[in-house]
Amino acid sequence: MPLVRYRKVVILGYRSVGKTSLAHQFVEGEFLEDYDPTVENTYSKIVTLGKDEFHLHLVDTAGQDEYSILPYSFIIGVHGYVLVYSVTSLHSFQVIESLYQKLHEGHGKTRMPVVLVGNKADLSPDREVQAVEGKKLAESWGATFMESSARDNQLTQGIFTKVIQEIARVENSYGQE
Ligand code: GDP
Repeated sequence: MPLVRYRKVVILGYRSVGKTSLAHQFVEGEFLEDYDPTVENTYSKIVTLGKDEFHLHLVDTAGQDEYSILPYSFIIGVHGYVLVYSVTSLHSFQVIESLYQKLHEGHGKTRMPVVLVGNKADLSPDREVQAVEGKKLAESWGATFMESSARDNQLTQGIFTKVIQEIARVENSYGQE
């Protein structure tokens, strides 16, 4: 029997950037136009990567802003993060920078596997954040960057497999110290 490893991943970002849509696309394979604003929702999915199986537990949060105080449950026992902004909202990008700092303070010296996601890439004409800016920010954290569209199902699978890979990468780098 292969070992199924448990991975808890929290999705954070400003409201309406598409956190629920991305999680829903990934787990249910569909895009719904209208959701009720999320309170907090969890999703579970078994993800197979090569020979390894993972039980991915996703926490879809209600959305934060620069004034939010992150609860301990977003720090303790969390293996990795998907930080989402919308490419159509500069404000959501600024909120992500402040959320990252708060997570960083919460984790102290422990490294955090992070995938930074610029969602709503299908709305490119309404862009307020260029891909190069997202890439630069992710690089400054040593994190992975992706643009996605929950509507077009563009890269939604890739985000969540990437975060599992990032968790493994960070764990392995500890093993080598
Ligand atoms: P959340 O508050 O961050 O969880 O955002 P939601 O998933 O509820 O999405 C907010 C709104 O943006 C909804 O009307 C979605 O249909 C829409 N939306 C989400 N992702 C995308 C996307 O990739 N492209 C477009 N065009 N709309 C999106």
